[in-house]
Amino acid sequence: MKVTSAYIKAPWQCELRTLELPEIPPHGEVLIRVEACGICGSDLFALEEKAKDWQAFGHEVAGVIEQVGSGCEQLTIGQKVVLETSGFCGRCELCRNGRVELCRKAPHFWGGAALGFSDHMIVPAACVVPYEGLSPELACLAEPAGVSMDMVLTADIKLGSKVCIIGPGPIGLMAIPLALRSGAIEVVCIGRSHNEKRLEIASQLGANVVKVDGSLSERIELHGKFDRVLTTAPVQKLPEALQLLDFGGIISYIGFGVGDTTVAFDANDFHVRKLQLRSSYASPGIYLPQALEFLKAGIIPGDKIISHIMELEQIGEAINLYQNEKETTLKIVIRPTFSE
Ligand SMILES: [Zn+2]
Ligand SMILES: [Zn+2]
Repeated sequence: MKVTSAYIKAPWQCELRTLELPEIPPHGEVLIRVEACGICGSDLFALEEKAKDWQAFGHEVAGVIEQVGSGCEQLTIGQKVVLETSGFCGRCELCRNGRVELCRKAPHFWGGAALGFSDHMIVPAACVVPYEGLSPELACLAEPAGVSMDMVLTADIKLGSKVCIIGPGPIGLMAIPLALRSGAIEVVCIGRSHNEKRLEIASQLGANVVKVDGSLSERIELHGKFDRVLTTAPVQKLPEALQLLDFGGIISYIGFGVGDTTVAFDANDFHVRKLQLRSSYASPGIYLPQALEFLKAGIIPGDKIISHIMELEQIGEAINLYQNEKETTLKIVIRPTFSE
């Protein structure tokens, strides 16, 4: 079958291609008709630096199963599904020791000929999570919501924790209600003043908003004030974020840095203040069933997170918007168009 798929190559090249996918997927895989796919910060990282060769992209996917390969009898044609970027194998030593989040042998769909910014894609059945009761646009937020859950769980928030979230992007904003429900007595969300719209949403979600345009090092009134810091800011900001922690505090951080990603901080200060720096790298991308429940319950208010819904033909325009108009852009969801 003929499929339209967006391809990218760093730096900043994007084009739509027409290619062939098999009508019947291979053993253990399913053919998905994509209904919605969100643009993620990591897509921009791929466009800026990581995608050395032309590749398909898009991983925040909601769609419908259109065909199943052999060995996928538990799935049915017509089922609505969201996708885990990678699951876990269930058989390796880590999985068998109960550490599925560390599995490195998981089936995944990276490297496929067509990914989420396509009208169809073929994925391992193990990546597929059925859902109902949400629009595809909202359902595709389950993947970033799972990432946000991972950041919150990694921070190990306790009853009464004072929590600071740096970066009011979709992941940071979704973390606000999750942190509050994890027991935080206070959530402060830090963003730049040009992120007015995002900070307004942060406030609606229950955070106290603090605008910081310069370095956090200069904002001594914030130093030592938080038990937990959750950050999606550029990794080069980690030493500044450490200053916000109180004794025994924990940082949970997410994100790939661009350029030189070496960071330096005072190890003695880190040591005597008993700090912890934890990476929330949500791969395997798990927690999707719970993320769907949070979206359905409105605890993660997907409608506030989505700023734009655009067509696949507009993918180049959408990338431009995401990169250059941070003031008005939050989550852009791409919908393929169908001539049916
Ligand atoms: Zn993502
Ligand atoms: Zn495993």
